Amino acid sequence: MPRHSQILDSAAGPLPAPTDWQTLEPVALLRNVLRLTAPNPGFMTGPGTNSYLVGDAHTGFIAIDPGPADADHVARLWAAATHPGGSGGNLRLIVCTHSHADHSPGAAPLQALCAHAGVQAPIVGLASAPTARANSQFVPDAALAHGQRLVLSRLSGQDSHTLQAIHTPGHAANHVCLLLEEDGLLFSGDHILNGSTTVIDPPDGHMGHYLDSLDLLHQTCTAHGVQFILPAHGHAMPDALGAIAHLKAHRLTREAKIAAVMQANPNGDPDQWLPLAYDDVNPRLWPVAKRSLLAHVEHIQWLQSSGRAA
Ligand SMILES: [Zn+2]
Repeated sequence: MPRHSQILDSAAGPLPAPTDWQTLEPVALLRNVLRLTAPNPGFMTGPGTNSYLVGDAHTGFIAIDPGPADADHVARLWAAATHPGGSGGNLRLIVCTHSHADHSPGAAPLQALCAHAGVQAPIVGLASAPTARANSQFVPDAALAHGQRLVLSRLSGQDSHTLQAIHTPGHAANHVCLLLEEDGLLFSGDHILNGSTTVIDPPDGHMGHYLDSLDLLHQTCTAHGVQFILPAHGHAMPDALGAIAHLKAHRLTREAKIAAVMQANPNGDPDQWLPLAYDDVNPRLWPVAKRSLLAHVEHIQWLQSSGRAA
């Protein structure tokens, strides 16, 4: 069972305006988890990309999602990973949840800062798949295996912090979530977000894989007593299992609506289905919603062709 679950970020209500979000100072969520949000708020990134530091001065830190290649943000991350004396750069590993441009490009400059200070901090994650877009290419120094544990501990073996990699394709083919075993926390990358909906952009995004990965996360959170999800965009989310169930229901409701629109307009095309299937969504979001619509259409057609749907 997790050793504690009290998280210091209690904001479960509406997100503050992106301009009110803290990006200059790390926010301590637990004694061994810091969040530092990159100054890249926007339409797709919400308040900005959350970079997380897991560990403490005695064990060193693992950085999760250094974010875009923003020199100031990377320098702040480096400084926040302190040695016992208070100086920065105490990093052991840099993990990227996936290859997208708001997550992985900061890894190389962060690693370079470490190297400049004589610290080797390998970049780990999964290489981008051939389906990844040109602006989402990523090659780690070492590939993470599903179930692999990244362990930080003192020489005495005390006070360990263990991140377990969970391969969760769907938003991106190379997406991994990370379970902090001792504390029962899930770092969900972009697979689960707070305040915005994950875009599934085929072919690197895949709706069937996304739903399967949600099921896997539900099992993992059940098995490890996970209460809080720490997403790459937005506040910490309490009630991990409820959030995952809600998300799956939301996806299936949307898929049912799309299937009904397709059935009513069998000779239509995605551009005709889009305003009908997303009539409850601001038209400003339709170009992005169209990517997820295509992923749903592909999934609906696969269900039908494999005899899994009427
Ligand atoms: Zn992403």
